[in-house]
Amino acid sequence: MTNELELFNKLAHKLFEAENTNPVTQPVPAAELFEQLDIKLHDQPDVNFEKTIEKLILSTPRTATRLFFNQLFGGRNPKATLGDLLAVLLNNSMYTYKVAGPQVGVEKEILHNICDRIGYPKTSDGTFAPGGSMSNFMAMVMARDTFNERIKTEGVQQKLIVYTSAESHYSIPKNAALMGVGREQVRYVATDALGKMIPEALAILIKKDLDDGSYPFFVNATAGTTVLGAFDAIEPLAEICKKNNVWLHVDGAYCGSVIFSNKYKHLVKGLELSDSFSVNAHKMMGTPLTCSIIVTRHKKHLNNSFSNDAAYLYQTDGDDYNLGKTSIQCGRRNDALKFWTLWKSVGTNGLEKIVNQQFQLAEVAREYIKNNKDYTLYSFDDSISVCFNYKNIPAQHLCTALYEHAELMVGYGTFQENEFIRLVTINAGNSEADILNFFVVLERFVEENEVIFTTEVISEAR
Ligand SMILES: *Cc1c(COP(=O)(O)O)cnc(C)c1O
Repeated sequence: MTNELELFNKLAHKLFEAENTNPVTQPVPAAELFEQLDIKLHDQPDVNFEKTIEKLILSTPRTATRLFFNQLFGGRNPKATLGDLLAVLLNNSMYTYKVAGPQVGVEKEILHNICDRIGYPKTSDGTFAPGGSMSNFMAMVMARDTFNERIKTEGVQQKLIVYTSAESHYSIPKNAALMGVGREQVRYVATDALGKMIPEALAILIKKDLDDGSYPFFVNATAGTTVLGAFDAIEPLAEICKKNNVWLHVDGAYCGSVIFSNKYKHLVKGLELSDSFSVNAHKMMGTPLTCSIIVTRHKKHLNNSFSNDAAYLYQTDGDDYNLGKTSIQCGRRNDALKFWTLWKSVGTNGLEKIVNQQFQLAEVAREYIKNNKDYTLYSFDDSISVCFNYKNIPAQHLCTALYEHAELMVGYGTFQENEFIRLVTINAGNSEADILNFFVVLERFVEENEVIFTTEVISEAR
């Protein structure tokens, strides 16, 4: 193993150096992948193993650099990375205290702290899921079993209805399909001009379904919608859910980490009224992928929906310390340690700084856009997604050209009729200068390549 650790160090340093000098890799076209890189597996060992790995690593898109704005994650938090590397070395499985020992305590400490922070009662609990989509799935399963506990044994036989905003994540309809509820039973509630769910529209839809003899059972609110980063107002939604006896889940995969910031936690005001809440630490907190947390105020329902007896597995210690009793997986990697090493080293105050920095960077970007007439802004305050267009160039063409020329990694999105570039200021390792540099790179690129952005040339090329 020591040889591999030495090699690891060597490769890591090469990668860091490359990230510094060349923050964006020249993409390898998928059609040429196997010609440019030695990926194929053979009967004989690769005599150039080291070189092969190095080339593979240096050709991989660089998601940790100051020019990566393409997704809802980015950067590389050193303390969290240390935790994840150690988790790999320890290679525990989180299902029992017998094999995970104190790592169980690490996971429970994070879960309990988050439950307390939200203001959930002592009856709350949670677990780590393989990602935000699966956290949402677990919430939906708990809601279903709470609505009718016989569904676990008999299957779904009633017309159950899910409500989520038109701007919510695609995992909601996908999960409805996976769960046997069905995509057609998902109601997309209209949003206002800021992309937030309209509570009155939700109430009307629920009433209509009740009148039709259907069974509303799950409302999904979003804390940070995928495109605009909008926060649904939780309090009015909670009131409607309570009146109709419907489970309220808050999908905070993207921006639920505002709970760590005194300055921004008002964006999830009323979160304590929800039945469950999920947050991805691999998004705003900058831990390595994946680190997704699902908590519920009803520990009882977490147990009811996910525990299964297994005499060969649960042989010692109480159920409270055998985390396999409340997880979706059996064998489960330790996703808690990386968040714990980060949290332990910087304290909750340090987590708050991370969150505040992202909002500050977004503010810098919005100000730049507002003060420059070549730009059109499509997003609003209190969001770390900054959506804009530049010189009316179609967002899709500009983003793709920037990628193909290895200038910048940034994506595009749509809201209502507009398509725009979506700059996500989620990398708290970035400085204000890095954000201003984003615009310098973009503007210089357009200036030098003006010709490729005329509509005629684009349509000819297609
Ligand atoms: C990212 C995201 C998800 C999905 O999380 P994964 O970890 O990618 O599965 C769900 N909901 C929202 C709002 C998201 O932004």
